[in-house]
Amino acid sequence: MPNYEYQCTDCNHKFEIFQTYQDYGIRPLSCPKCKSSKIKRIIKPVRVARSEEDRFESLSDPEQLAGLEDDPQALGKMMRRMSRELGEDMGPEFDEVVDRLEKGQPPEEIEKDLPDLGSEGSGLDPSLDL
Ligand SMILES: [Zn+2]
Repeated sequence: MPNYEYQCTDCNHKFEIFQTYQDYGIRPLSCPKCKSSKIKRIIKPVRVARSEEDRFESLSDPEQLAGLEDDPQALGKMMRRMSRELGEDMGPEFDEVVDRLEKGQPPEEIEKDLPDLGSEGSGLDPSLDL
């Protein structure tokens, strides 16, 4: 199934959506963050440069990952880089988590705020105001 990357033109939140070819362009879409329907398709950038790949390898080191637990912002950056590197769509929830990490929210708190994490189609709590 293809995934499509979008950016909200209201709050600039970026998110990806899984859609079948049948659904594409038919299903109404809205920003998972602010619920705006003013979203635009993002054309994916070209693959990362070589130096980025090298850094990704060093970031796969378990010891480095353990150290990141205490540094949400670094962890968020690392997760974003990893998902880009893998070229896999982690879903809107993943983006939500990364956004929160980059704002410095500890992982435990994010888990509490997002109890439906990982379950599909549950949607995010609309009352969450970031
Ligand atoms: Zn938005």
